[in-house]
Amino acid sequence: MFDTLSDRLSSVLANLRGKGRLSDTDIDSTCREIRIALLEADVALPVVRTFIAGIKERAKGAEVSGALNPAQQVVKIVNEELIGILGGETRRLNLAKTPPTVIMLAGLQGAGKTTLAGKLSGWLKKQGHTPMLVACDLQRPNAVTQLQVVGERVSVPVFAPEPGNGVGDPVAVAKAAIEEAKRAQHDVVVVDTAGRLGIDEELMRQAADIRDAVRPDEVLFVVDAMIGQDAVTTAEAFRDGVGFTGVVLTKLDGDARGGAALSVREVTGQPILFASNGEKLEDFDVFHPDRMASRILG
Ligand code: GDP
Repeated sequence: MFDTLSDRLSSVLANLRGKGRLSDTDIDSTCREIRIALLEADVALPVVRTFIAGIKERAKGAEVSGALNPAQQVVKIVNEELIGILGGETRRLNLAKTPPTVIMLAGLQGAGKTTLAGKLSGWLKKQGHTPMLVACDLQRPNAVTQLQVVGERVSVPVFAPEPGNGVGDPVAVAKAAIEEAKRAQHDVVVVDTAGRLGIDEELMRQAADIRDAVRPDEVLFVVDAMIGQDAVTTAEAFRDGVGFTGVVLTKLDGDARGGAALSVREVTGQPILFASNGEKLEDFDVFHPDRMASRILG
């Protein structure tokens, strides 16, 4: 996903190599090029501004250290600032003191929520948990079946309303699911919710009602990293409409420009917890800001 950005940044930073000392003009022109590379990668403008300001200030104030030449020092600063906008430390999943931990997934239709529900619960199982999936997307006719298929593949039970029970009430399903999890001693409950093609009030209200009913320990906003600048608008709408405690980036295997992935943490103030990078259920991992930064810087 970050190939173009990665190439651009590497060549900008390579231009500094061999310079004994960096003048303010060198730093300014390097920052200008980095700025263009980020904007072309679709990184949101306020994020670009913060990022560049951080680099400029630190690069100009940097003491020449014995171990690193000036170019290496700039690379180090860019790397650290990149880790910073990606969230700094790896953020672990928040687990409830008294089980079950409730994790609610929210996001637009097609973002990859149902796929993620499978990936996340499979991962939780590997970590020694006893997860249960809950089908609260009762809008899309196939959603419940799709979750059941995914659940079966990772051998995680799915709590769903009986077929033929009409449209169903997702809030009632969510509440009943928590009771069932307590009874059957599932220590983590992953609640899949309905998405729409666009942001709409009813979707937000329904998600907020489910949230109020199950009091999740984590609300994870699932966002397709390929949707570019729209990711930021969508994230803001979900932040204001439902609120979330963490972000999951999906489709990082795509060939889009990926700026969304670099913007969403800074724009929403919420950490990225997981990354999904393929259609297979094992294409999933904890998100590590430092590893992502290294990947981008090549
Ligand atoms: P939902 O509507 O949010 O539940 O989204 P789905 O889980 O149904 O995913 C929508 C489509 O995206 C499906 O075709 C998935 O196979 C695909 N998908 C989900 N995650 C990824 C991913 O990380 N990479 C790729 N390439 N495709 C994905």
